[in-house]
Order: sequence, then C-alpha cells, then structure tokens
Amino acid sequence: MTHLLHRSIHASLPVAVRGEGIHLFDATGKAYIDASGGAAVSCLGHAHPDVLAALHAQLDRIAYAHTGFFTTEVAEELADRLVDDAPEGLDHVYLVSGGSEAVEAALKMARQYFVEKGEPQRRHIIARRQSYHGNTLGALATGGNEWRRAQFKPLLIETHHIDPCYAYRLQMPDESDEAYAARAAGELEAKILKLGADQVIAFVAETVVGATAGAVPPVADYLKRIRAICDKYGVLLILDEVMCGMGRTGTLHACEQDGVSPDIVTIAKGLGGGYQPVGAVLLSKRIFDAFALGSGFFQHGHTYMGHPMAAAAGLAVQTILKRDGLLGNVRAMGNHLETCLVERLGNHRHVGDIRGRGLFRGVELVKDRATKKPFDAGLKLNARIKKEAMTRGLMVYPMGGTIDGQNGDHVLLAPPFIVGKSD
Ligand code: PLP
Repeated sequence: MTHLLHRSIHASLPVAVRGEGIHLFDATGKAYIDASGGAAVSCLGHAHPDVLAALHAQLDRIAYAHTGFFTTEVAEELADRLVDDAPEGLDHVYLVSGGSEAVEAALKMARQYFVEKGEPQRRHIIARRQSYHGNTLGALATGGNEWRRAQFKPLLIETHHIDPCYAYRLQMPDESDEAYAARAAGELEAKILKLGADQVIAFVAETVVGATAGAVPPVADYLKRIRAICDKYGVLLILDEVMCGMGRTGTLHACEQDGVSPDIVTIAKGLGGGYQPVGAVLLSKRIFDAFALGSGFFQHGHTYMGHPMAAAAGLAVQTILKRDGLLGNVRAMGNHLETCLVERLGNHRHVGDIRGRGLFRGVELVKDRATKKPFDAGLKLNARIKKEAMTRGLMVYPMGGTIDGQNGDHVLLAPPFIVGKSD
C-alpha cells in the first residue's frame, strides 16, 4: 500500500527511474517513447546535458531568495529573454511555478488593471466551453471542461462560456472558413453585449486547444476577429498558451501564426521543459503602466515565484531551443508526423479527424465517421488507450470527451522537439 495519494487511486503505475532523449525507463528497464512529452511538457526530451549543467551551476550559485527581498540575475535574464521573443507589445514578465498559477495570476492581473484604471465595476470573465485552464479554483472556473468542474461548482466564481472554434464539429458543411470565423467570434460580441460592455474584464482562450479537445487550432481569421471585438469594447484578451506555447506549434508563441498579440499570455510546460516547475505571465505595457502609475503593487504573490532554479531551467531550455534551431525541427517533424498519421490512420473507421500544428497533433476518435458520433465511453476509452500504449512502450495523452458537442474522444501527441524521422 502506498502512502502517496496518486491521481488515480487504483491505478498501478510503473516506477520511472531514468530518462534519456525521447525515452523514459521504468524500474524493470522497460523503455517508453515519450510521444506526448508527458502532458506536452518535455520539449527537449529527458536528461539534456546542457540543461543539467545549467541547473547544477545555478544550484552552486544560489537556490532560493525570496522575491520580497531580492531579485536574482537568472530571473532578470529569463524575463529579458522572454520579452525579446514575445508577441508585439508584451514587455513585462511575471514568473510563477506552473500553468494554473499563471492563469490565476493573469485573471487577477486583468481585474486589478481595471481597478487601477478606475473601472472597478468590471467583473465578468468570458471563456469557451472547450477549454482547460488549470485545476486551481479560478482557473477551473474559467475552463469549460464539465468533467473537471462538476463537483466543485459551488466553489467556482461565475464565468461565462461561449462555443469554441471547433471546425470538425461546429462548422456547417456549406460554411466557408471566413463565415465560420465570423459566426464563432460573433458569439463573443453577443456575450459582451449581453453582460454589458463596461462590465467585462477579459476573454480567455487557448490559442490551440490542448488537453480538452486534442490540438484544435482556430480557423483562419478567428483570432483576428476576437482581437478586434476585444478592442472595440475595451475587453482584455488573455491567451492561454500553457500547453500550445513555447515552440510546440512551430513558432515560439502559437498566436504568431494567427497574426494577433494578446494583452496577456500565459506560458508554462515547455518553458522549462519539465526540468523545473516554472510558468510565466507576459503582459502588455499598458497593463504594466496602469500598475506603475497606480498602486505600484500587484496584489498577488507566491513564496516560490521567480525561483532561481526554475528560472535557470527556463533560461537553459529557451537558450537551447534557439541555439539548436529546434523550431525548424518542430515544423519539419510536425509535417512528417501529420503525413504519417493521415497515411496510416486517415481511413480508419474510428478516426474522425486529424489536426494540429507543429509537434502538437490530435486524433479524434469516433464510433461512426459519418455521423461523428462519439464512443460515449468517456474515461474508460481513455484509460484503455493509455494502458494499451504503455504496454507497447509508448506514452500518448488520450482524453475522454464530455459528449456535449464541445469535446470528442481524442489522443494528443506532443513529442519532444528533438525527435527525428527514425524515432
Ligand atoms: N492551461 C492549459 C492550456 C493547460 O493545458 C494546463 C495544463 O494542462 C494548465 C493551464 C494548467 O497547468 P498546470 O498543470 O501546470 O497547473
């Protein structure tokens, strides 16, 4: 009997003892291809010698200094690096320990921005039904995944959800991408008007939807329209790139491919590649200025924010990503992966859709291709796929749909950026 409370109490898990490149090894010596990077985390694979060297060096320098007393060179350097490569207009960085923390900080930052600006009546967050933004209460309230939310509803702040941009299920057969983008984005405008334009704080969305739906990118122009609607009503645009960001889709930030800059972007997972728990919020100058000219204080903070070891991991991973030109490999291998998936699974009777960008790919499984009817097996299907794959020495990330037309059953693939054709 284990004293550790695992996610799934009855699952018997192999013990991971070692990692190397794209592989993890368990205590029996069995190798697993990490084709999902855990949950789209391990972007450089495992035991990258240059990341390990950077972490050892940082540990020898300084492991911890509370951010209420000190700043550190490594945290400043990481912030500089992230701003250098950020979408236009994002010029400040708030460092946290992971994705949920990044989303919580982003929500509070957005609310405080309007308080600083003298618009304290703004109180509504709008998000999409097809989304996962984290498991802490604010992030959970923002996400739309009912399976994750259901039992905690009495504890969640009210969030307003609209339909996602989900071409496979929600675009009508005779509808152009342009018309669908306009219709899907139009839902945001309708919701803002319903709530009262001067009452809304922000719209939150994953640029490419990850865990809930399996790498669902928006159709062309959708995010540009969303950006325009937010601007029209003075609503902030928060893009959650915790999973799809930091190179995963072939550009450092996924939204670069949609030609938009958000007011706030959240990043985590691939930022530190799993070598340390690290996340960040990138924010625009106008938000920073409102704080600087107002209270001069962001009313938030965690003991481990800006942790030097976490910052060192982020800095090392981002340095290697650039130095080794890995974004090019993400694009090339992403195309190769897509070709393989389409060739081998495209005609399978239970494969409804194959989609994604870069090394972020989703395969949606259906009972019936013609009707797109899902399996209705939810978590059971998910557990079976995971078990079968693990038996064969492969890690993939399956998720059961919540069968409300917003999420199907799918398998997510997010291999490390160092992957090659032979892998
Ligand atoms: N946001 C998105 C888009 C995610 O995919 C996740 C995790 O999967 C989170 C937030 C939460 O991140 P974390 O698990 O690091 O708290």
